Amino acid sequence: MTTLLVTGGAGFIGSNFVLYWMSRHPKDRLINYDLLTYAGNPESAASVAHLPNYRFVKGDVADSRALRKLLAEEPVDAVVHFAAESHVDRSISEPEAFVRTNVLGTQTLLETARQHGVRRFVHVSTDEVYGSLGETGLFTEHTPLAPNSPYAASKAGSDLLARAYFETYGFPVIITRCSNNYGPYQYPEKLIPMVITRALGNREVPVYGDGLNVRDWLHVEDHCAAIERVLEQGVPGQVYNVGGNNERTNIEIVKSILAELGKPESLIRYVADRLGHDRRYAMDASKLRRELGWQPRYSAQEGLKRTVAWYAGRKDWWGPLLETTGRQNPKPQAPEG
Ligand code: NAD
Repeated sequence: MTTLLVTGGAGFIGSNFVLYWMSRHPKDRLINYDLLTYAGNPESAASVAHLPNYRFVKGDVADSRALRKLLAEEPVDAVVHFAAESHVDRSISEPEAFVRTNVLGTQTLLETARQHGVRRFVHVSTDEVYGSLGETGLFTEHTPLAPNSPYAASKAGSDLLARAYFETYGFPVIITRCSNNYGPYQYPEKLIPMVITRALGNREVPVYGDGLNVRDWLHVEDHCAAIERVLEQGVPGQVYNVGGNNERTNIEIVKSILAELGKPESLIRYVADRLGHDRRYAMDASKLRRELGWQPRYSAQEGLKRTVAWYAGRKDWWGPLLETTGRQNPKPQAPEG
């Protein structure tokens, strides 16, 4: 039996991963360590909360004392590190929290895990650390880091610390960098759930700039499967890009969702562009395919259809969050990643 420590398991990708892992590895023990910021929702993993091999611990990844206590109490074999401040717009208005959680928090977790003999550490990062692409080309694992937003810079900082822990101490860290995820349990400040939830309420849908920024979209379940591969077979010290092979402009995504919901395009409202808005991200995920045999299962069309259906049926999950988002972000924004 393996004991896995998952950080940020009450967030979007983390909670999907908790559910994915518990269903596929029912004998493993899983500790979900999460601070429950505005982005954390224990309801997302409620269906496994009763299991004896699941434990939720509320805590901060930057709190070394709490982490030391936890790892002394319960030896952990592997860590999957999702916990982060993750919203680009928030990083533009309040960058400090991003440095604290993403940089200091990652270093604190790496150090504690190293001191407690953790045998594998997957650090979950983002394509945004590579900066922006022109009309063509793809990010590979060798693309130099050139982050543009405070969020991306804080993630790049955490990637460099993860790398340094491998190079300096031989600590078995693996870094994954994925493109924009979508799917169930994503906080409605991000593009896809924002569009779905606003359109369901016949509210206008803000789109940044000309709407032609390009992102690669990865269904969260495909991402979870990629992390499983990396955790089980990845080579320590390596970086693996994870992409959905689904490049779309933001406006294409918005229009597909409106069409799926049978809502008019007149709901779209173009708003002033995000500061420093990266134009295009696209991933070369061939290393993960070639070396670990992973590939995404969802086409954007099928993934979006399922996601729209999920949000349409789960207002109980996102309705209360929408009220909070409205209070925290009173100005119309056009979130994206
Ligand atoms: P999220 O914002 O939905 O969830 C983050 C979780 O981390 C929340 O549950 C929050 O409570 C928790 N958290 C925040 N600060 C913490 C702290 N100091 N200590 C402990 N827990 C804390 O994020 P997400 O979209 O699920 O992203 C997860 C990871 O994947 C992040 O590291 C992010 O950078 C990366 N990533 C996300 C995407 C995406 O499209 N969502 C794309 C690429 C990479």
